[in-house]
Amino acid sequence: MALLDIVDPDRDRSKFTLAQQRQAIKVEQAWRKRGLPEGFVDDGDVHIRREPGSGVVYISNKAQQMAMLNEGRIELYWQCPGCRNEGFKNTLIHTLGCSYETKPFGLSGSLVPPPV
Ligand SMILES: [Zn+2]
Repeated sequence: MALLDIVDPDRDRSKFTLAQQRQAIKVEQAWRKRGLPEGFVDDGDVHIRREPGSGVVYISNKAQQMAMLNEGRIELYWQCPGCRNEGFKNTLIHTLGCSYETKPFGLSGSLVPPPV
């Protein structure tokens, strides 16, 4: 008996809404044009996925790093280890005032306390 090849439903484009399919095309175009953002690890399992709840379309890898389209470019999506807020680096630092060292979402590491 052959093993059932289970496709991650969050990568299954046939399940994407029309808006998500359009967004996925934009993500692909930006990815092709400028490549993956610095710090995003191509571990051989890099795919476009969608978050079913929010409808957000993003690129992720095996380490569960996330990268999203931001003003025409693919940018790393970060999580602040201090307050757990998520967003693009500029937003975390300049809008939310995160003072912890932020790390790309999905990469675990020891927390770095804010500078005294
Ligand atoms: Zn924070």
